[in-house]
Amino acid sequence: MILIEAGEVYAPEPLGQQTILVGGQQILAMVPPAELQPGGLPVTRIPAEGKLVIPGLVDALVHFTGGGGEGGFATRTPEMPLSSAILGGTTTMVGALGTDAITRSLADLLAKARGLEEEGISCYCYTGAYQVPVKTLLDGIQEDLILIDKFVGVGEVAISDHRSSQPTTQELARIGAQARVGGMLSGKAGIVLVHVGDEPGMLTPLHDVANLTDVPLSQYYPTHVNRHAALLEAAIPYTQAGGTVDLTTSTTPELLAMGEVAAPAALKQLLDRGVDPASITFSSDGNASLPCFDASGSLVGLTIGAPQSLFAAVRDAVLVHGVGITPAVSAATRNPASVLKLSGKGRVSVGADADLLIVDPKTWQIETVIARGTLLMHHGQLLRKGRFE
Ligand code: ZN
Repeated sequence: MILIEAGEVYAPEPLGQQTILVGGQQILAMVPPAELQPGGLPVTRIPAEGKLVIPGLVDALVHFTGGGGEGGFATRTPEMPLSSAILGGTTTMVGALGTDAITRSLADLLAKARGLEEEGISCYCYTGAYQVPVKTLLDGIQEDLILIDKFVGVGEVAISDHRSSQPTTQELARIGAQARVGGMLSGKAGIVLVHVGDEPGMLTPLHDVANLTDVPLSQYYPTHVNRHAALLEAAIPYTQAGGTVDLTTSTTPELLAMGEVAAPAALKQLLDRGVDPASITFSSDGNASLPCFDASGSLVGLTIGAPQSLFAAVRDAVLVHGVGITPAVSAATRNPASVLKLSGKGRVSVGADADLLIVDPKTWQIETVIARGTLLMHHGQLLRKGRFE
């Protein structure tokens, strides 16, 4: 058991000074410091006075088996090691395939999710990839969602991108409908994570589905909506129509120079425009390839997404852009957990999973990471690595 003493808790709503008792993977109790009498319990005491205690981050999109390869086989990005998650304060990840569903497989993705889970964090997966028809592990989307515990949705299905399968409205509607029923029957989100590319169609294919078929907009969860200013603008009516949008925190100087809006700045812009904070999320796109294409579609550069950019975006939203702690933290905790229906994740409350970060409020350095009740980082020191790190 662990006793986190007298931290300033943002759950993410502000709860003031609280002492938190962690045990058996869960938060067992949370009370104002003076009220807890632990008696002779064998607890590890962690003084947290003057520190922030926030939920462990929930990363809704990580290519933890690697991604990419847009520049040939030598540009396939590597698997993500456990330490990348811990150092970035991410205690829950949802893995996806991307452009390449030929040399990378859902079986591999599922195995990596189970491996990371054994190593100490919580993991889920999306079935499918960019391609339509959607490739699944079993016979179809519904089978994967209903029969495989780790699969919580479909993704990244690509639209408005020269690498996408150019899906029709009916094809997108069919994917959404199958995911919806699969989610209903399994008690999961059944969400369709949609990779939105650079092309001018932007979010129109999703509005077309909502306008022309019976599948609601909320069935689709578009990501990378900060990749240029016009797409970020298009995200506003999307949220007003009931959707949630995801901002990608991995970026590069080249992508920013080409017009990408950095996720913390994008969050600030959306909030200033009156977008409901609950309908905005951050994800890292960790271990993705971040290809840079010129106007003719030729590859001119390629780097790798960083899982730790997720926490950095929360930090910069607060410290650089003056976003409140609650909306900034929510974008990487409660909001994605809610969209993905990950019960027990993304919040500090009794009965929730004991996924917690202790953060210095001045520097926003992560000091302590607790995942499912186990200390994985303390005093800024990594206490656990992956087996082969
Ligand atoms: Zn993508």
